[in-house]
Amino acid sequence: MNIRVAHLYPDYLNIYADRGNIAVLVARAAWRGHELDVTEVGIGGRIVPGAHDLYYLGGGQDREQLLVAADLATKAEPLKAAAAGGAAFLAVCGGYQLLGRGYRGHHGDDMPGVGLLPLETVAGDRRMIGNVLLECELEPGVRRTLAGFENHAGRTRLDPGAEPLGRVVSGFGNDGESGYEGCRVGRAIGTYLHGPLLPRNPWLADWILAQALAHRTGGEPPELAPLDDELEALAHAVSSARAQRR
Ligand code: GLN
Repeated sequence: MNIRVAHLYPDYLNIYADRGNIAVLVARAAWRGHELDVTEVGIGGRIVPGAHDLYYLGGGQDREQLLVAADLATKAEPLKAAAAGGAAFLAVCGGYQLLGRGYRGHHGDDMPGVGLLPLETVAGDRRMIGNVLLECELEPGVRRTLAGFENHAGRTRLDPGAEPLGRVVSGFGNDGESGYEGCRVGRAIGTYLHGPLLPRNPWLADWILAQALAHRTGGEPPELAPLDDELEALAHAVSSARAQRR
């Protein structure tokens, strides 16, 4: 099966090697006999609902976010239609903020968002930086941890009743106060966890692949064949221990 991925603004939203998440998805798909077909969508590029199974947005500094926000806002309707049609989304940090209703940056710039995730973000004075550990329950009764790194000035407030990605065990999360991190709407996930998010958390990579495959086939998310994740488990353990020491 070929899984069709739209990578939005790879030239701008690419801080902390967030692009590496795509490399993980490519490898883990290939090890199960699937191919990832990655299309880069830049400024002026079109979004055609149904044409992609997964949309990916990396993080960026306020400056880069300002360069893409207005263009991204023009893609809001087709992106929301794609999500309503069951496509998966993964958005990291700056991309996560812009999938909400809007982001007011550190210098007071108001950036429009897509409005796909029920949240708003306003930058504060102190950056929230460091290792993070989360506890997630994407499937009822199945608890797993996510270990990663955050660096953001934005404070993200979820709307009442919105589903966070996880509970903060250690770190700041969405706003340093709520005790929650990220947001999930169906197959769309936004998170502040950067860079090696998927290399350290292979279960999330597989969850995303399964959601994308479900969109591709029009069926249920498949059970993916288990892989030898010994190195990934070590990376997770190191990262999780760092987060718990902070
Ligand atoms: N510019 C945003 C902030 O500081 C996002 C930063 C990022 O993607 N690391 O909150």
